[in-house]
Amino acid sequence: MRKILIAGNWKMNKNSAEASELAAEIAQTLGRQHEVDVVICPPFTALESAARAIENSGVKLGAQNMHPERSGAYTGEASAEMLRHLFATYVILGHGERREYFKESDEFINQKVLAALNSRLKPSLCVGETLEERESGKAFEVVERQVKAGLANVPADLADLVIIAYEPVWAIGTGKTATPDQAQEMHQFIRGHLPALLGEAQAQRTRILYGGSMKPANARELLRQDDIDGGLIGGASLEGRTFLQIVEAAAEVSR
Ligand code: PEP
Repeated sequence: MRKILIAGNWKMNKNSAEASELAAEIAQTLGRQHEVDVVICPPFTALESAARAIENSGVKLGAQNMHPERSGAYTGEASAEMLRHLFATYVILGHGERREYFKESDEFINQKVLAALNSRLKPSLCVGETLEERESGKAFEVVERQVKAGLANVPADLADLVIIAYEPVWAIGTGKTATPDQAQEMHQFIRGHLPALLGEAQAQRTRILYGGSMKPANARELLRQDDIDGGLIGGASLEGRTFLQIVEAAAEVSR
């Protein structure tokens, strides 16, 4: 059985004091619950304060991006080792916003995935089609390309660290959600490509999260789908109560 994972992507929100407050609210409410894996992903500048706030809880820390090189002349960037030093164990890679606004290519994202694995960070590789691509019937082709390129050359002994997040671009921050059927169809399609990329046994173990306007009202139905193993939550992760309601929905589904 794949354990449900609920991750909050705070994007460019919360300064270090605000992050500490929100992280503490989540950590204190959840304590050491183990029904659901819960990860919060604050901006780089708030990783340290959030790490302190979740100490002694079961909540884990993730970053929203990283550079594939270990160190060097890459102004404004942070490496996997720097994230590990701040107690991050997860990292979101290839988010739709990074692909769109920062023109990140599949190849560059793949370098990041491999560097994250090399530092034993769990990469959450984001894939997803735009509205135009969906309407022109290209959604499956686009997602297949992103998955194959993003997971190229993953070493077999590190494949169990990989997480995938299907986030249709048209559903991110728009209030529009893929229907459970639409999401399940894509998740199943993605899983179908995993044996060749990560190995047959691992394909069944890899968690594929859904992201795109997930909220308490739609979380249960999405999480009940066979191949939806969690959620990557943007807007609804910025308010403790709302995020915790999604975690509760996930716990219910896993019982
Ligand atoms: C995201 O940024 O990963 C996301 C899914 O955002 P939202 O939940 O706001 O659509």
